[in-house]
Amino acid sequence: MELYRLTIHELRHLLDRREVSAEEVTRSVLERIRKWEPRIGAYLSVLEEAATEEARHFDQRQSWREPALLAGVPVAVKDVICTKGIRTTCGSRILRNFVPPFDATVMAHLRGAGAILLGKTNMDEFAMGSSTENSAFGPTRNPWNPAFIPGGSSGGSAAAVAADECVAALGSDTGGSIRQPASHCGVVGLKPTYGRVSRFGLVAFASSLDQIGPFTKDITDAALMMNVIAGYDRRDSTSVPVEVPDYRDSLVGGLRGITIGIPREYFGEGLDSQVEAAVRAAIRVLEGRGARCVDVSLPHTEYGVAAYYIVAPAEASSNLARYDGVKYGFRHPASRDSLMEMYQKSRSAGFGPEVRRRIMLGTYVLSAGYYEAYYKKASQVRTLIRKDFLETFKVCHVLVTPVAPTPAFALGEKADDPLQMYLSDVFTLPASLAGIPGLSLPCGLSSKGLPIGLQILAPHFQEGLTLRVGYNFEQETDFHRRCPPE
Ligand code: GLN
Repeated sequence: MELYRLTIHELRHLLDRREVSAEEVTRSVLERIRKWEPRIGAYLSVLEEAATEEARHFDQRQSWREPALLAGVPVAVKDVICTKGIRTTCGSRILRNFVPPFDATVMAHLRGAGAILLGKTNMDEFAMGSSTENSAFGPTRNPWNPAFIPGGSSGGSAAAVAADECVAALGSDTGGSIRQPASHCGVVGLKPTYGRVSRFGLVAFASSLDQIGPFTKDITDAALMMNVIAGYDRRDSTSVPVEVPDYRDSLVGGLRGITIGIPREYFGEGLDSQVEAAVRAAIRVLEGRGARCVDVSLPHTEYGVAAYYIVAPAEASSNLARYDGVKYGFRHPASRDSLMEMYQKSRSAGFGPEVRRRIMLGTYVLSAGYYEAYYKKASQVRTLIRKDFLETFKVCHVLVTPVAPTPAFALGEKADDPLQMYLSDVFTLPASLAGIPGLSLPCGLSSKGLPIGLQILAPHFQEGLTLRVGYNFEQETDFHRRCPPE
């Protein structure tokens, strides 16, 4: 049996019965990492010894009266999430040597549930990007075809799950960075409702949008991961104190009584015909499970990209002001003459071009005289987009759409054209601006053999509904079981 292929729930079964040891599982996945990393580059650091040691430690514990959900399961974490004593670079030169003195809340939850940390995954610098080409440490490649991008910014986590270089992973999604790479790599990715999962210890990009979520091999595992990471945290002031359900309960029942909205703005010009065909076929599968479909409209969708690319850089310009070469992170060695010179040299050598572009954009839209015209206007548009969703959810329970307009594009194809890169986020940005949950799951393969994803959106705090719809889809199809060619 190839242990690295298994899901959390399959491993749970074997580990709890002591049919396999955590060490065997961990070694199997580490072996896989050694084999695939040269081709994929999903990790920025692999904790080979520590992970093996943790696994051994787990096996030595004699009794697990109530086995924790992730006990003995090797996972990976995007390098934007702080890990105590373990380098956390955010894909940036400026944090190249940053070792956090604390664990992010999600990391503490993973450890509490018994997970074994395999390593930290590659990402676009500060999570800015849609292809993982903006990492200061080199790109990650798509396991289905290394000439293509894995999506971004959590491309490392998505690729690691797709290539079985971990059992599950965490990523972060500000405007699509979990859903889009999940779609391009053929795995499940869930962006929870804003406020559902603690952001404490997540390096900030755009604080009103950032949210941590899981990458998994199937929907059941996504439910398990959510059970571990969701919940109120007093250390995150935007964390919401609402009850967290047992997400496994969402997986019960068909779709009778569920109304699915098909927003017409997501099926227009620019949508690749193969993506459209796969998504429409998926909708028919959901109808076969008892769902009823209605056409709906989200009229402000077309302003999503413009609003996001004002709000997100504005917040980023403020959040990234802390990297000044003084408090922590990179300080330019040849900058002894003045404080200003030190700031300038440290920041221009420490940040890559996309991050600098966003800081400039964000500073501009927040500056006196432009604030009203740009930032304020974008915030108002954001409210309209949110209202579109709230109105639509009066006539349907969930929305089903494509995740991205095309399958993965070739490495380098959009690297010099930021606008084209931004447009690839068109279907994921609106849900981020509205703060609602979004699930991405595999629903097809293109003629080039690249995965296509299905996006399921639900009202605030209804992650369970997206999982229920996704689970029903999985019952009828086998896309979640397909693997990249060896
Ligand atoms: N691609 C979007 C951006 O570049 C979203 C990134 C994200 O969700 N972190 O900002």
